[in-house]
Amino acid sequence: MKAVVYQGPRKVAVKDVAEPAIQAPTDAIVRLTTTNICGSDLHMYEGRTSVEEGKILGHENMGIVEAVGAGTDRVKVGDRVSVPFNIACGSCRNCESGWTSFCLRTNPIEGMDGAAYGYANMGPYDGGQAELLRVPYADFNLLELPQGTEHENDFTMLSDIFPTGWHGTELARMQPGDKVVVFGAGPVGLMAAHSAMIRGAAEVFVVDKAKDRLDLAGKIGATPVDFSKADPAQQILDATGGRGADCGVEAVGYQAHDGTGQEHPELVLDNLVKSVRSTGGIGVVGVYVPEDPGATSDLAKEGRIAFQYGTFFSKGQHMGTGQAPVKRYNRRLRDLIIAGRAQPSFLVSHELPLSQAAEGYERFDKREAGWTKVLLKP
Ligand code: NAD
Ligand code: ZN
Repeated sequence: MKAVVYQGPRKVAVKDVAEPAIQAPTDAIVRLTTTNICGSDLHMYEGRTSVEEGKILGHENMGIVEAVGAGTDRVKVGDRVSVPFNIACGSCRNCESGWTSFCLRTNPIEGMDGAAYGYANMGPYDGGQAELLRVPYADFNLLELPQGTEHENDFTMLSDIFPTGWHGTELARMQPGDKVVVFGAGPVGLMAAHSAMIRGAAEVFVVDKAKDRLDLAGKIGATPVDFSKADPAQQILDATGGRGADCGVEAVGYQAHDGTGQEHPELVLDNLVKSVRSTGGIGVVGVYVPEDPGATSDLAKEGRIAFQYGTFFSKGQHMGTGQAPVKRYNRRLRDLIIAGRAQPSFLVSHELPLSQAAEGYERFDKREAGWTKVLLKP
């Protein structure tokens, strides 16, 4: 079958690889209908991680069940499913309490809890930017979708970024009526803004400098804030009578830059601490990498970020972090889509055949104007 494989910094190619097979009775094989390129794939694409060459990428997957193992009885061949990016066993202590993103059993790497498809440090699992994908613990992990093709580009956001954006608002302990600030108008930030609106925010500020992405934020009713024009924290303070937002979401990650191309991994955390009111919450879903001696950047080697912890402490704020436990939210978010109350497909900019994956990666990585979210259609 064809699959997108990592070939070194800024190089991916569509290659012929062996088809996946059922390895355990709890496995299923899914034939992909849509698989997205994510900002998280860019950490690997840019050569910032220790991901090995030849790895099949892709953790935002949906499709039709092609085969099931003998121990699988809920999921059936022919079912249309969304595949959460977390690979979870369903029966460890963390899975039982809803933290499937920190499953204690599926990642064999010492010190790492939580596994994902096609990802550095997240276990030996192939990704789904391919024709077929092996899904472990299929009965537990797969979310059933209505048959047919309706809402394909909405449902494809259920594997990662819609639940991740929602999780950002949850980690920030957002309440209806809150003023919410979201840093990053990439796909994840826009999903956090969409989630905050659905959850009854009084106002949502979205900070970025990419005009096309800020325009999208404006289109869904958020207030765009351009950080290249003036200090973004000051802009939020000015817009909230000096009080600050009630809570905030970090949807940028350690590759935060100052607009001139210079990276400052602490910049967005500092701006959130400044622009959220005292006792307010901050949800960090932008990725910060753990210590990874094999990584190429110093930051990723050490996994250390120096942000204004003293101000954070003085303001009595709280912060939640980490990979999103997709299963905790995806059923309800699916039903919001079906009910017409959520339309996460608003951010889709490109639908490409799998064969054009390399172009999709290159242009999304450059954050070329208009390349907001790229879907691959195997
Ligand atoms: P992305 O990387 O394109 O989005 C980041 C956006 O942040 C860009 O639009 C960029 O212009 C903007 N930005 C850069 N510096 C900024 C600054 N100083 N202030 C404000 N905005 C700034 O793609 P994405 O897919 O939206 O990913 C965002 C982050 O979310 C990545 O770190 C990704 O790895 C992470 N992510 C986390 C999870 C999770 O489960 N926690 C899941 C998916 C993605
Ligand atoms: Zn993703």
